[in-house]
Parts: sequence; structure tokens; C-alpha cells
Amino acid sequence: MSIRYYSTNRDLKNITGIKPFAGKVSFKEALLTGQAPDEGLFMPDSIPRLSLNDIQELKGKPYWETALLVAMAFLADEFSVEVLTHVVQDAYNYPVPLEEVSRRTFVMRLDQGPTASFKDFAARMMARLMSYCRPQGERLNILVATSGDTGSAVGKAFKDVIGIDVTILYPTDEVSLRQKKQLDTIGGNVQSLSVSGKFDDCQNLVKQAFSDPALARFNLTSANSINFGRILPQIIYYIYAYAQLAAAGEEIIFSVPSGNFGDALGCEYARRMGMPLAKLVMPTNENDEFPNYLKNGSYKKVSPSRACISNAMNVGHPSNLARFFELYGGTVDRAGVVHSNPDLEEMRQHIFSVSISDEETRKTIKKVYQLYNVVLEQHGAVGWAGLEAFFQATKTKGLAVSLETAHPAKFPEEIQKLLGLTPELPASMKGIDERKGNALSMTNNYVDFKNYLQNHLKVKE
Ligand SMILES: *Cc1c(COP(=O)(O)O)cnc(C)c1O
Repeated sequence: MSIRYYSTNRDLKNITGIKPFAGKVSFKEALLTGQAPDEGLFMPDSIPRLSLNDIQELKGKPYWETALLVAMAFLADEFSVEVLTHVVQDAYNYPVPLEEVSRRTFVMRLDQGPTASFKDFAARMMARLMSYCRPQGERLNILVATSGDTGSAVGKAFKDVIGIDVTILYPTDEVSLRQKKQLDTIGGNVQSLSVSGKFDDCQNLVKQAFSDPALARFNLTSANSINFGRILPQIIYYIYAYAQLAAAGEEIIFSVPSGNFGDALGCEYARRMGMPLAKLVMPTNENDEFPNYLKNGSYKKVSPSRACISNAMNVGHPSNLARFFELYGGTVDRAGVVHSNPDLEEMRQHIFSVSISDEETRKTIKKVYQLYNVVLEQHGAVGWAGLEAFFQATKTKGLAVSLETAHPAKFPEEIQKLLGLTPELPASMKGIDERKGNALSMTNNYVDFKNYLQNHLKVKE
């Protein structure tokens, strides 16, 4: 029976401006539209199971084999095994190191991809799946507004993908020099636009373009972070790590530094697919809405969100919280209003969450370096501190993996300040500062942007 995708908002009543979407769509439709018509998030109506035996057989095998097993479980009805094999082999051509830091406690480095952040894992697979889903003979045009990291991960992921062009908009004065280099030097089918304005201006330009009938012929699509096509690839590395490290049937603990909860959601699905999980630890930075909710059962988003050094996690109302609520029987909407509560006891049984301050984050970076000679950056340090908090609160021991979600070389100033060393650039970023960029300048005026799109985008292959 094939898996279909429904909206987390399907039962919402009495909300002005939203007409609940009661239908279901295929994975391909969910992938190309990103969001349900009622602004809800797409959810699979059943979760495929993997046998423990299938998982254990992945031990010692290359990463793409785990990717293929998970992809087949979800997508076998809509893609051939040949296509999926090609997608995962092409997407995952870099290492996924598992470093033992102290006894039976590991760091999984998800920072070896082309833009040195874990977002590469999702963006690369999604890009390749989209290439196979586009309407016959037509091009897709991806528009992305970015304040930094997502834009380069998405842009790089689509580089040279057949039939798809990408336009990235970023605010000229709000990205770091190194981020600007990353965005401007992708080249080929990826064009960056340096917008004189704020991140919000970039988002507004993109939104207006999506709803402009005069641009419909360009097949404009977003590579939105709530797309289920970005969640699916994030299930894979949990199962991979489990297969490499666990003894037969042993339970594992994962600690996932969390912002919009897409990464942690991958772990939640991995458990529901059959991976033996002792606990999903979800540390946040000072944006503590979720740890507070688990503690006292009433949800209050943090608004405006707090600016912490782990800046990719500065989220006051995580977009994927709606999916967690749904999986545990509750409903929360985009504004952060809880319509029905999930089973809180069941949630606490599987999930532990804690807020880590910037001060603790910095202390952790120093401590992990002094004790173990391991360099973590600020996001990975939140993960590690969360794991330690869990060990302390529960007096548990056992096999545990903490995720490092970005490469320390992306944050040279912070690391230099704390450890007195300059992290070496990963191969993907070598020479970045000297590369020549090809950004075009753009005003924040929609008419200018529309003219640009009409003159530059292509329609057919
Ligand atoms: C996006 C990001 C996160 C947070 O991931 P979510 O899926 O939003 O919870 C953590 N670390 C880094 C480096 C990121 O870029």
C-alpha cells in the first residue's frame, strides 16, 4: 500500500483565512509544493518498518546503502530502485565520521559535505529527487531567500542538477564575508542576488513572485525547510550510526542540537521505523519554549526569538513542532496556538529537552577541547551539553551519539577566542576567500525583481 501525505491542519476549524485541507497527496506532490494548501505540514499517513536484521546488516557498509534502504521504504512506489540508487550515490559522496570521544559516547560529524553543515544531507537528496519529479521537458526554478547558511546548502545541492535553476536572494549587509563568498561563488545554474535591504525584504520578494500569475510559466518552487523531502534524508544518519555502533538490539541515545526541530524529527521517525532508541535528547539554546513545555505542559513561544551564538538555532517557535505534536496526538498551528495537547507522558518517555545558555555553550567548547582534544563549534556544543545534562539528570549510561551539525571553521572568530586556535578549513572550503564571486545587485523593489526574473529565467530544458 502506498504512503500518502496529509496536512497537520486538516482538522483545524474556526480559524479565519484557513480552509482545512482534508485530502492526501503523493510524495512527489508534497515535494514540489512544499507546504499543504492550508499552510499545514505534510505528514506520511503510515510509517514503514525496518527489521532489526535489515538495520544490522548495514554495519560496515557505505553510507549510501543505509540511504537506499530508508529511501526504498518510503518511496518504492514512486521511484524505481535504479533512480533511488543513483540519487543516494550521487548525493552522499563524502564521509560521515563517528568519533569516540569518551567511552561509548560518540560525536557524529555531519559537517563534511560541500557547505560544511548538516543541511547538506537533506538539500542534496531533495535536489536530486526534484530533478526526477519535474514535469516532462520543463525546467524548475527554485527561489530561495536566505540569511546565510540555508542558501548556500541549497544552492550547492542544486549545482549541476539537470533541469533546475536556482536564484538565491540575500541581504547585502546582513551576511558575513565568508557567507557572501559561499553564496556568490557557486556559479553555473545557481545565481545569487545581493539585495539592498533586509532578510524580510528578500522573503517578501520571493513570496510575491510565487503568487504572481505572470511568472507561473517558470515553474517557481521553493526548497522550503518544512518540505517533507528535507525530513526524509534526515532519518538516514540515525539508522546509519545505530547500525555501525550498536550491539544486537541494544538501545541508543541521540543528542540533537535543535532549532526548527527538523533534524530531531528524523530521529523520531527512525525510532518509529524500528531503530531501538533509549532517548531522543533535544537541547535548545536560550530559546527554551520546548523544554519549558515538556516540564510544565503549557506552550508559550519565545517572541521575538533570542539571539544566541548558536545562531542557526535562534528559533522561538520551531516550524516542525507541529509534526511532533501530530505524532503524539496533538495539534499546534503556525502561530504557536495549541488546539489540542499531545500525550505529554508519552512524549516525556521518549524525549528529553533542556535549554543551554551561551555561557554553558562556551564552557562546553573549552571543556571538550581540554578533556578530549576535540573541537566542537557552538551548535555541536549545545548538543554535547544537552547529553551531559541528560546523563546527570537520569544517572543513565550507555551508548550515546551527539551530533556535530556544522564545521568549526565556519565560526573562526568564536573558536579563536575560546581555544586560541584557528580551525583548519575543510576541503570544501579551501581557497574560499580568494574565489571570485558573481553576485548581481538587486534593489528591494518588486518590479525590478520581476523584470530580472522575466529576462533571465528559462522555461524549457
Ligand atoms: C539548521 C541548523 C541547526 C538546527 O537544525 P533544526 O533542524 O532546525 O533543528 C543546528 N545546527 C546547525 C549548524 C544548523 O545549520
